[in-house]
Amino acid sequence: GNTLKARTIAILGSREVGKSSLIIQFVENHFVESYHPSVETTFRKVIRYKGHEVEAEIIDTAGQVEHSILSFTHVVGIHGYILVYSVTSKQSFEMVKIIRNKILNYSGRESVPIVLVGNKMDLHQQRQLTFEEGKNLASHWQCAWTEATAKRNDNITNIFKLMINEMEKDINPNNKE
Ligand code: GDP
Repeated sequence: GNTLKARTIAILGSREVGKSSLIIQFVENHFVESYHPSVETTFRKVIRYKGHEVEAEIIDTAGQVEHSILSFTHVVGIHGYILVYSVTSKQSFEMVKIIRNKILNYSGRESVPIVLVGNKMDLHQQRQLTFEEGKNLASHWQCAWTEATAKRNDNITNIFKLMINEMEKDINPNNKE
């Protein structure tokens, strides 16, 4: 049936990779050139996908990760993680690996629902990471992956559909779709 499920999703990654931009593009359908929340902000949106209606609570962690404040508060009550790097920053790619390790450590699990996102795919000239590097890391982690651009609004909706799919798999391991 169409029961409304509540799911909490955290978006994590280095500062400046476009976490806030992609949430705002998804939730409010516009691109903000500069938006700098200094505190953690929560957004809500009902996502309809494959007959599911999910009331998503999306947590923008506002760049706290660099200051190693990723802690238990970032794993308690979180159903899924969107880990964002920028295709223009190798450093941000290294950061998502560190973040995933921390999540697994804090949660005490071998895997958690993750969508890996390579944002800023519009910046062809500044690319430091290939399509394959992102794809390979995701297959190594057995998680979902996409490149996207919050600025051009490409693949943003897809990120959240992938997230719902990963969270559904987590609840029902027989659902391999
Ligand atoms: P956050 O610190 O991870 O939340 O990053 P922001 O959302 O504040 O974005 C950092 C900067 O990158 C801002 O200047 C955004 O306008 C810019 N930005 C975000 N997404 C994109 C994108 O897809 N393409 C381009 N070219 N710039 C982006």
